[in-house]
Amino acid sequence: MGGESRCRFCGSVLNDTFVDLGMSPLCETYISLEQLDQMEPFYPLHVFVCHQCFLVQLEEYVNPKEIFTEYAYFSSYSETWLRHAKEYAGMAVERFRLNRGSHVVELASNDGYLLQYFVQKGIPVLGVEPAANVAQSAISKNVPTIIRFFGEKLAREMLEEGKGADLLVGNNVLAQVPDLNDFVKGMKILLKSGGVITLELPHLLRLMEGNQFDTIYHEHFSYFSFTSVARILAFHGLKLFDVEELTTHGGSLRIYACHNDDNTKAVAKRVTELRDKELEGGFTSMDFYSSFSEKVKKTKRMLLGFLIQAKEHGKSIAGYGAPGKGNTLLNYCGIRTDFIDYTVDLNPYKQGKFTPGTHIPIFPPEKIRETRPDYLFILPWNLKDEIRKQMSYIRDWGGQFVVPIPEVSVYS
Ligand SMILES: [Zn+2]
Repeated sequence: MGGESRCRFCGSVLNDTFVDLGMSPLCETYISLEQLDQMEPFYPLHVFVCHQCFLVQLEEYVNPKEIFTEYAYFSSYSETWLRHAKEYAGMAVERFRLNRGSHVVELASNDGYLLQYFVQKGIPVLGVEPAANVAQSAISKNVPTIIRFFGEKLAREMLEEGKGADLLVGNNVLAQVPDLNDFVKGMKILLKSGGVITLELPHLLRLMEGNQFDTIYHEHFSYFSFTSVARILAFHGLKLFDVEELTTHGGSLRIYACHNDDNTKAVAKRVTELRDKELEGGFTSMDFYSSFSEKVKKTKRMLLGFLIQAKEHGKSIAGYGAPGKGNTLLNYCGIRTDFIDYTVDLNPYKQGKFTPGTHIPIFPPEKIRETRPDYLFILPWNLKDEIRKQMSYIRDWGGQFVVPIPEVSVYS
């Protein structure tokens, strides 16, 4: 967009850099052999923090319609995520006493991975999902789904049709919403009086503490602290009455909200505790945010230092995994086949392709046994324990694991 950009929540001019990760392609656009000789679009990955409301955010460099109308990610492919969804449904039904007369709505309901568990309990549900391919998969398993982007307009239409929500769920969607105010306004409209909203979102506190700069990508427009998300909901007449800290996605929050004038829900101690923790941590001071940038640069220098050293000593390095976050890391650090010979991934859709921007070939995991690399570089570091267990046989030839985040570490 260039020129003057403004905060997507409060409209202030954005001048303050949170971190600038340079130019990167969209992290899910894996490259085929034929595309290797073609041009590839790169977009800025420059994150700002608003000096007025402290919302950390990325400009809308790419139209969300381009990113989200056909989505390669089917939630039901992940067993861990399914288990998480099932536990959530059980908890919600019990805690909020949901029954056959209740109505559960999920925004960004993907392939019905979550709502199916409410359907099993006979509770009426409705999903809203803009990506037609994943939405169709939900419909085919009896999860009614509206294929649209959510906002004020759709909320009003749904309400007119009597589709208000007793429980309104949004998991990992708020970060991906370009028009934040329109979306939250829509939630306020759709929520029945006495109803509950729960949202899960990656926690900025964890991103900063864990140096997880590679979880920044073009599909994620906003990066929330508890304080900033509370402020946004409050502006739209919603109050937070509970919060849980989860381990998903490197550290997430599950927040519980209701209408401002709903006095039937006591505000949990956890709410004030977390708000105080962030306040003490510096989440309302600009100096705190500007320190992150240097930490990221240092991580890059240390990682490259390790890789240069390894190559000088004639070591071979293979990657493990080709996740979206890996592509932010590889592009920002400029790591290509000069350092990593290839990577492997269990997802057959990615095998035979190349990583976006850095063009590292992706093979099935068997390749590791054939080539016996000295180092296995784990890109999805959040799964490092699982991968080290699964790939323990690399020790047979003295292979070691390299984990890049929070700082480069080697494990045998
Ligand atoms: Zn702002």
